[in-house]
Amino acid sequence: MFTSFIIFLCWGSFLNVVGYRLIRSIDLVFLRSRCNACKQTLTWYDLIPLLSWLSLRGKCRYCNVPISFLYPLIELLTATMLTALLVYVPEAYFFAYALFFSALIVVIRSDLESMLISRFTSLYLVPLGWLFAHLKMIPLSLWQSFTISIGAFFFLTAISWFFNKVTGKQGMGQGDIDLFTLIGAFTGVVGCWFTLLFASLTGSVIGIAYLLYTKQQINTRIPFGPFLSFGAMIYVLHAPTIIKLLLTK
Ligand SMILES: [Zn+2]
Repeated sequence: MFTSFIIFLCWGSFLNVVGYRLIRSIDLVFLRSRCNACKQTLTWYDLIPLLSWLSLRGKCRYCNVPISFLYPLIELLTATMLTALLVYVPEAYFFAYALFFSALIVVIRSDLESMLISRFTSLYLVPLGWLFAHLKMIPLSLWQSFTISIGAFFFLTAISWFFNKVTGKQGMGQGDIDLFTLIGAFTGVVGCWFTLLFASLTGSVIGIAYLLYTKQQINTRIPFGPFLSFGAMIYVLHAPTIIKLLLTK
């Protein structure tokens, strides 16, 4: 378990790079990691997850510019969530869900950092969900994965359109709709409802608390992607319990 945790930390470190580069259209693979402020190429010991950030107290070794807390946060989140997958989800589903979680974690990172969700970690992965369903690598049939993802897309598009008509404001971003489509493909209909319920509840509670705390305007935009992502991950980890709770009420 400890070895897995360490491997997952390194995977989280890679996801940080993916999240940072995807929304800036920087080459994903061939460029060595470097400091975003002083462009100094980083050595192997600067790339050790968590420890390098802690030992440097969150500053670049070369130019002292603060390094975002998102780096250790994303590393820890990746390691925790993938370890939880190992514990709670049948082995046969681990690979597909690990990939799904990785996409969600990149979404959390990019949405927190810049309010952007790349289609490479949302809409473009939907066919992969269908493939995994077909290969029985997730507990959904191909038909379920296919129809629910498309249903999820049109459902949120309709809600967003309606909200816009009534209030004149932009409700949900296209990124959130793309993300919800992916969640539909990997979690099915109960997963979608749970995710939406979870994200709306936690999103409004935390959103209001944040606005009160920072004394910002009520129309300040708060990224919704992280709430959807957490909802979907919690559903995948505890699906049997959640289904039981929802269906016996
Ligand atoms: Zn630097």
